[in-house]
Amino acid sequence: MIIPFLKGLGKTLEQCFRKPITIRYPEEKREVSERFRGHPRLLTDPQGRPLCVACCLCATVCPSFAITIEAATDGMHQKYPRRFVVDLARCIYCGFCEEACPKAAIKLNRRYELAQYDRNLLIYDKEQLLKSD
Ligand code: SF4
Ligand code: SF4
Repeated sequence: MIIPFLKGLGKTLEQCFRKPITIRYPEEKREVSERFRGHPRLLTDPQGRPLCVACCLCATVCPSFAITIEAATDGMHQKYPRRFVVDLARCIYCGFCEEACPKAAIKLNRRYELAQYDRNLLIYDKEQLLKSD
């Protein structure tokens, strides 16, 4: 009777001195892997202008139709996205948009805390995509 009890107690004490494998989320955040795919964001050149030329390749390859682009041209006949929207509720974080972009203008970031109470808040416009790190 006493032997199994002592064995159980020993196991309990053993766990008390082990390094915990869990963390106190959300106070502590775990580093994500190098290969982790967060949500798409738009990149800019050193002058802060979007690299995107509104070719729509990313929207074409997107398997979940999460990207909507409205192209426009500036005074120099350069195309740019007047409107660029990504619906993160549709996005499956596959990274196809990043692979397809000829200008390296869209890249998946490493954010994973995206939960919202309102799905409309998961529809990111150009400004949000440009400023999300
Ligand atoms: S990561 Fe995949 S699903 Fe999300 S916007 Fe890019 S191509 Fe579409
Ligand atoms: S593929 Fe790249 S350059 Fe073309 S619309 Fe998408 S983000 Fe812009």
